[in-house]
Amino acid sequence: MNICVIGAGYVGLITSLCFAKQGNRVICVDKDIEKVDKLNKGIPTIFEENLEELLNECLTSKTIFFTKDIHQTIRDSDVIFIAVGTPEMDNWDVDISQVTEVINQISYSINDYKIIVNKSTVPVGTQKYVKELLIRNGVSKDKFDIVSNPEFLREGKAIYDFLNGDRIVIGYDSEKAKMVMEKLYSTFNTKVVFTQPEAAELIKYASNAFLATKISFINEIANLCNKVGANIETVAYAIGLDKRISPEFLKAGIGYGGSCFPKDTKALVKIGEKNECDFKIVNSAIKVNEEQRLLPVKVLLDKYKSLKGKVITILGLTFKAGTNDIRESPSLFIIEELLKQGTIIKAYDSEASPEIKQIFPNIIYCHSLYDSLIDSHCAVICTDWEEFSTIDLSMLKKKMKNPMIIDGRNLLDLEEVKKNNLQYYSVGRGNWI
Ligand code: NAD
Repeated sequence: MNICVIGAGYVGLITSLCFAKQGNRVICVDKDIEKVDKLNKGIPTIFEENLEELLNECLTSKTIFFTKDIHQTIRDSDVIFIAVGTPEMDNWDVDISQVTEVINQISYSINDYKIIVNKSTVPVGTQKYVKELLIRNGVSKDKFDIVSNPEFLREGKAIYDFLNGDRIVIGYDSEKAKMVMEKLYSTFNTKVVFTQPEAAELIKYASNAFLATKISFINEIANLCNKVGANIETVAYAIGLDKRISPEFLKAGIGYGGSCFPKDTKALVKIGEKNECDFKIVNSAIKVNEEQRLLPVKVLLDKYKSLKGKVITILGLTFKAGTNDIRESPSLFIIEELLKQGTIIKAYDSEASPEIKQIFPNIIYCHSLYDSLIDSHCAVICTDWEEFSTIDLSMLKKKMKNPMIIDGRNLLDLEEVKKNNLQYYSVGRGNWI
């Protein structure tokens, strides 16, 4: 099939490469010419497991091409995937202006029948809006069908997830489009759920809100564990043995981040509001997360009273391991608050996107883990990078001014911590500060 994917970000790039790997001819369009040039040269624009190999494999087999020319690409394609950003607005609404822009471009370029598939996460009702917009733009009804096909990949495991997802969701209102989508995904060994467009759009938000709620729930239990002397790992393990609960997403820490959970939970609350449904549970999950990500600041203030002039090391800037994505990362909120308190921040992350330097130009970026610890009053582990779990604690002790660790991801071995006599705060595994 001739496929075009509009947007070469985390979702668009992975979608393009995975469809190319399945034997389709894919053209991926992005308006960022620098991204397009790099990708055509086989240089990955994001940090993602197995990405470089797959990109080069697809370029060599000529099943993928990157371009800025949206007009010709639309004309040459049978199926058009939209994978542009849908960021959060200040009032928690979803900004779908990038989707609107793409639909206007399609309206201008469309020459014959196309299936337009929306992969971006969009509010319930967007499929209907897109259809009306195309018609308003003068595109005849028989020239297109719209499909909603939300994406569930996890950054860090994006290629694996795309090819081996738990489910593929297709919202459709035309048998012709359904058949094409069925064929397109026929090489995947994944359960496909065909449904109405509104249900498909809602499934994405409901899934993310449920997972976010699970995280906030276990974090509240972890906070209690620290007070009563229980170990969250044992508690979570035993809870997770119940098949109705499942062991996944029961890892306590300093909260979720990333480009999806924070914005999608808020979007669901907003969609609820517009439909007179008050999402009390999701609202609470959001509030718990906003407090949880600032837990290290609270611990530091309890310990030091004033943080002015204290050197704090931030270990990990990305919102989780395996990605360079810093969007909504808990570390950003921690750094922002610590700067307000007058601390000196030293930060280390071997993969974080360079955009971080634009957000915080005045912190010290270190090139090695142990350099970042020199003269530090406390190290805060914010990301679950493996490098941090294998840190040499005796070396850490020598480098730091005050050997204190706030382990926001519960990475360190408790026996090792005790052996090295460190001041240590974990999320539900004990507090020796
Ligand atoms: P992103 O910001 O990484 O990528 C979007 C890309 O679209 C950018 O490269 C941008 O330059 C390009 N773009 C925007 N307008 C364009 C236009 N008119 N023409 C050509 N290119 C254009 O975003 P992302 O993280 O890939 O997310 C995309 C969508 O997928 C969002 O709705 C998001 O909520 C959803 N989603 C993301 C993830 C994830 O883990 N990142 C997972 C599932 C779903």
